[in-house]
Amino acid sequence: MTLALDGGRPVRTDPWPSWPPPLDPAQRALVTAVLESGQWGATQGGTVVADLAAAMAAQSGAPHAVATGNATLGLFAALRGLGVGPGDEVVVPAYTFVASATAVLLAGAVPVAVDVDATDLHISPAAVEAALTARTAAIMPVHLAGSPADMDAICAVAARNGLAVVEDAAQAHGAAYQGRPVGGIGDAGVFSFQSSKAMTAGEGGMIICRNPDVHEAIWSVCNLGRVPGDAWYGHPNLGWNLRLTEIQAALLLPWLDRLDAELDRRAAFCAAVEQSLAGLAVSVVPAPAGTTRDSRHLLMLRLHDPVDREFLLAAMAAEGVPLDGGYRPLSTFPALVAAGARAEPAPTAADAAQAVVWVRQPMLMDEPERAGDVAAALAKVLASPRAHRIEPQVPA
Ligand SMILES: *Cc1c(COP(=O)(O)O)cnc(C)c1O
Repeated sequence: MTLALDGGRPVRTDPWPSWPPPLDPAQRALVTAVLESGQWGATQGGTVVADLAAAMAAQSGAPHAVATGNATLGLFAALRGLGVGPGDEVVVPAYTFVASATAVLLAGAVPVAVDVDATDLHISPAAVEAALTARTAAIMPVHLAGSPADMDAICAVAARNGLAVVEDAAQAHGAAYQGRPVGGIGDAGVFSFQSSKAMTAGEGGMIICRNPDVHEAIWSVCNLGRVPGDAWYGHPNLGWNLRLTEIQAALLLPWLDRLDAELDRRAAFCAAVEQSLAGLAVSVVPAPAGTTRDSRHLLMLRLHDPVDREFLLAAMAAEGVPLDGGYRPLSTFPALVAAGARAEPAPTAADAAQAVVWVRQPMLMDEPERAGDVAAALAKVLASPRAHRIEPQVPA
């Protein structure tokens, strides 16, 4: 079979589902109502941001939520509201989106990247424990790809050492750990509404928290240091304007009603991919043991034979099944290191950067019958000797 890269027939020629999905009638109605009200900002008396916050708190099993302009700022505000700042260290996984670390730097603290579990690629509780110092103030588990980090183990380490836990739930809307929704398990949890995420308004974020004092502190950080009920120009605390607009919230509030169905749809597609991989040297990266609901933001695939990644990614794209190369370890970003980020040895994250590729969320929204396209394209590309060409070793 001639590869599409060499002019052969691609495995797939029709497009994958687009993201975001088309507006549904409830979104259209609410967005229109907000636009016509003129109450576009969250300080003009509109209630949609507040309704969204209340609904997401309830969905996360926690009493409080604060909406933010994006999740990077949400993680920053959560850390700051929990008292994390200069002189403190925050432990983050080495295999994550760069914002997990830059949010820590924005709070003035030092991100300490630790290795991830060799099987599920989520932050390793043992690696967290090994990286603790007298300066450690918080742990930031990331619910990678839509499956929860091992929260029992993380929270136990935090409790033993008096540390805060901030869940980076940017990728995990609707996911659950041991039956508990993510976002409401740690001291704070942060969701993202950026364009690629499971619920999106183009941009946006939501911080969930349990303690009323922490809630007030986070709200104040996001509202220019104001305190509810105090003078408008009082600003007793230090804070910024990190608010979400009513227009964005109007896109998001109705989404909560269809999120479950979308999660089911992605789960069905992923299950079909997993079945169709039988016989290939490729497997689905499993979710951590405590996962009771995987929101399937991404499907992570592990390639068992060494491959020429550049070739594989280009050849898959040409076949009409584009894959994503995924993350590099945080330690490989010079800007982070220059800003003071620390990195513990992370051989598993480094290995994942070579051996793991992702199927992105929009593709997972396709009919399960089309899941075979992923395996068919992989089989075709991996059959090419060029996919396995390994760069000659530089003599020592
Ligand atoms: C998307 C993402 C963020 C940042 O979210 P924004 O809303 O884009 O700021 C943080 N952490 C992880 C793991 C993400 O995937």
